[in-house]
Amino acid sequence: MKAARAKTPRRPALKKASPPGPKDPVGVYCRVRPLSCPDQECCIEVINESTVQIHPPDGYRIFRNGEYRETQYSFKEVFGTLVAQKELFDVVAKPLVEDLIRGKNGLLFTYGVTGSGKTHTMTGSPGDGGLLPRCLAMIFNSIGPFQAKRFVFKLDDKNGVDVQCEVDALLERQKRDATPVPKTSGKRQVDPEFADMINVQDHCKVEEVDEDNVYSVFVSYIEIYNNYIYDLLEETSFDLIKPKPPQSKMLREDQNHNMYVMGCTEVEVKSTEEAFEVFWKGQKKRRIANTQLNRESSRSHGVFMIKLAQAPLDADGDNVLQEREQITLSQLSLVDLAGSERTNRTKAEGNRLREAGNINQSLMTLRTCIEVLRENQKYGTNKMVPYRDSKLTHLFKNYFDGEGKVRMIVCVNPKAEDYEESLQVMRFAEMTQEVEVARPVDRPLCGLTPGRRFRNQAFREELARKLEIRGGPINEETEEQSASEILLQNFPPLPSCELLDINDDQTLPKLIEVLEERHKLRQKLSEEFARNVLTFRTALRELDSNIMSKENYVQGKLSEKEKIITGQKAELEHLEKKIKTLEYKIEILEKTATIYEEDKRHLQQELESKSQKLQRQVSDKRRLEARLQGMVAETTTKWEKECERRVAAKQLEMQNKLWVKDEKLKQLKAIVTESKSEKPERPSRERDREKPIQRSVSPPPVPVPNSQRLVSNQQVHRRSNSCSSISVASCVMEWEQKTPSHKHTGGNSKTRTRQQEPGQSRDCNTSDRRRGMCWTGITEVPKRRDELEMEEDQCCRGDVFKTRGGGQAVQFTEIETLKQESPTGRKRRSSPSNADPPEDAADSEWTDVETRCSVAVEMRAGSTLGPGYQHHAQPKRRKP
Ligand code: ADP
Ligand code: MG
Repeated sequence: MKAARAKTPRRPALKKASPPGPKDPVGVYCRVRPLSCPDQECCIEVINESTVQIHPPDGYRIFRNGEYRETQYSFKEVFGTLVAQKELFDVVAKPLVEDLIRGKNGLLFTYGVTGSGKTHTMTGSPGDGGLLPRCLAMIFNSIGPFQAKRFVFKLDDKNGVDVQCEVDALLERQKRDATPVPKTSGKRQVDPEFADMINVQDHCKVEEVDEDNVYSVFVSYIEIYNNYIYDLLEETSFDLIKPKPPQSKMLREDQNHNMYVMGCTEVEVKSTEEAFEVFWKGQKKRRIANTQLNRESSRSHGVFMIKLAQAPLDADGDNVLQEREQITLSQLSLVDLAGSERTNRTKAEGNRLREAGNINQSLMTLRTCIEVLRENQKYGTNKMVPYRDSKLTHLFKNYFDGEGKVRMIVCVNPKAEDYEESLQVMRFAEMTQEVEVARPVDRPLCGLTPGRRFRNQAFREELARKLEIRGGPINEETEEQSASEILLQNFPPLPSCELLDINDDQTLPKLIEVLEERHKLRQKLSEEFARNVLTFRTALRELDSNIMSKENYVQGKLSEKEKIITGQKAELEHLEKKIKTLEYKIEILEKTATIYEEDKRHLQQELESKSQKLQRQVSDKRRLEARLQGMVAETTTKWEKECERRVAAKQLEMQNKLWVKDEKLKQLKAIVTESKSEKPERPSRERDREKPIQRSVSPPPVPVPNSQRLVSNQQVHRRSNSCSSISVASCVMEWEQKTPSHKHTGGNSKTRTRQQEPGQSRDCNTSDRRRGMCWTGITEVPKRRDELEMEEDQCCRGDVFKTRGGGQAVQFTEIETLKQESPTGRKRRSSPSNADPPEDAADSEWTDVETRCSVAVEMRAGSTLGPGYQHHAQPKRRKP
């Protein structure tokens, strides 16, 4: 049989323009690994299932002028530190495996700085297999029973696949088994080194595998280091003493414009264990090369490629269809990228610096390519994407330019030291999400009846059974045999068919009879069977129709429910939007409320300060009022007192005048009585009397107007003496000059008059009436009261104060009682110390009747109001 050859027919022939049709964005996932030490500072938090937040570590703020910014990045899904490998696989890698089995390409790579968990995610750690072993397990779980025999599919060196018949494949197997190539037989001892990494318990598999296809898996493992591609599965004799540098591989483009590594080893594997063993071998080689050639493992990209070849079975469902157009080759590339950190971070020197630079270059190219792609897609530009600038991008250009699912897992270590690098990683990853890749189209159907494999299998089984019934072993169908035996046992027993005699005419007729009976019975049975079959068939049909109707009913219900669910989902979305709007509104309202509260507080404070000010003003006003009232009261009292004093002075004056008049009258009377008794007639006296009469004829003095009096009063007042006091005092002084009867001990007239205050006059009424003055500080007490005709006077002492109104007030401090000799008494004695000789002189004066009389007449002639008032009141006329 001739082998057909296929060259990945499903790939588009022209790749210049990206294929039209639906596109999907690059799926970017983020995985945050746990901190190595719980005490480490963490700068990345998982906010929700699609967002991570990154914030600068504590010390970082200082370098950035105190700027502290938290940045959030959104991805398709974010996996926290507690997320298990299985969960990650189910979300990220499972769909890629499903696509692979359906003939679609996929690319999955891990991106991040060294130590962020890329290898842990992709390969896994001991006891905890990563995405790679899980992908392998799922593939083999799904295609296990439908795998083609080894070498049925043959990969060529031009990225194509051949198919050959099983016989040729068997021959090739035999040929290879004879040569010492690595044995890839089914049952093998799993290497304990990685056994626990592929011990995937859950039998994860693709549900709808095309069972009419046969499958073969090929794996290859390459390393891109320093922009060179090395085949990690290549069989080389490694010389430990003088190691030969490995030969790098070239990239080539096949006839379908797909990129492939020329001459790369592709191993056909038939189980997970076998596939992982191949991978592990490559991994070991990678490690050895790194150690021996002094390379930094974190600076190489590891690419593990799984190719799945599938071809339909022929119409019989027996052999692989030998048509190359029908072969599908799909590929899943699992890439563990180099650490994305910058050169300075690794402290690389010399050779290593160059390596690091190259690695940076290849990752930089990846970034540039993705940026240009995004720009082209976003703005409709047609910039050239620089895939060729690095081997990494060149190898995978078909995924971005052509079709296939691209997924990226961004691995981050939340430790503070990685902050800046993680930030770069996040930015790149977020940008990558904007790139869209054409969605792979479904594989065309081969046109053969589905279910061929099982029909063929059933046929084979049946054939085998038949063959076995014919002559083979019967132990398998004992049950059925016994059933027929039972049936046969119910039949009438066959008579002996032995013909002993030629003329035996009984045996055969008997046999015929029995056989006929048996035939009848059999017919009956078969009729009954046919009837039963019919009944059963109708029952079955009824059941079927019942089921159909029920199914229809259920379908109807289901669609109804689906409609309801869709409606509810829409409502839910609407409500969620509403909630968001309301939340926003609430936020605004809260802010407004805060502003108002602030205003309110300000206003209250203002109000309080104003009311305090007002209260102060009110209290000031009250104090002022009280002060003014006090002043008014004081002034009122002062003026009242003043008035009273004036009234009293006036009264005193009048009384003085009255008294003077009385005195004069008395003197006159005495003169008259004396003259009568001693000198009854005295012509000179008569003449003298005429003179005053004549004088008195003169017009009476014009009454002093009030104003004038006031002026005089004021004058008096200015001299700190009351008007009345002055007039009275002057009067009395005049009188005293004439009758100098007493002298005051230590008395000073000036002092005395000064101490005499207007208020005091009222208190001195009694003495004023008789003496016209108020004494102060006089301690003149007669020694022999009984001998003298004395008058008792009360004299008030007090202190004078200036009042606020500008006047004066008196506070009485002492009242003295003065006893004086009545002026009428002839014998008036002053204190012994003041025995005054002029008194006697005065007395002698009074003896002169004529003089006395003239004085009396003169006084009388003064005025009606008060003789001599004017005369005595004139200050100029007072004696000094
Ligand atoms: P990378 O490949 O990015 O340089 P690794 O995958 O080698 O980083 O991870 C470094 C170390 O961190 C390993 O010891 C690994 O076991 C551990 N590690 C990484 N990610 C996780 C995780 N998600 N859970 C537990 N340990 C992890
Ligand atoms: Mg690694």
